[in-house]
Amino acid sequence: MTRREEIIEILSREEKSAQQLANDFKVEMLEILEDLKHIKYSIKPKKLLQRPAQCKKCGFKFKERNKIRKPSKCPRCKSEWIMAPLFRIE
Ligand SMILES: [Zn+2]
Repeated sequence: MTRREEIIEILSREEKSAQQLANDFKVEMLEILEDLKHIKYSIKPKKLLQRPAQCKKCGFKFKERNKIRKPSKCPRCKSEWIMAPLFRIE
């Protein structure tokens, strides 16, 4: 099984951030982001869903859909306590 196939399996079972996947597979997060881009197209008609990053302090939700990287700062309260976007496959 390739890493991409494994990621598809994992995300079909539970929500994970790119960083968590990078830790699981012991690779750079960039590689995971690359995998996710491909997975998005290869799993049709299933969908790769992304729960947006959110500020843990004030609850601000980051809306940019194209950014799958974790933002570093909240634009509203400037907190750096940000919950990374979570991915799942449905
Ligand atoms: Zn905030």
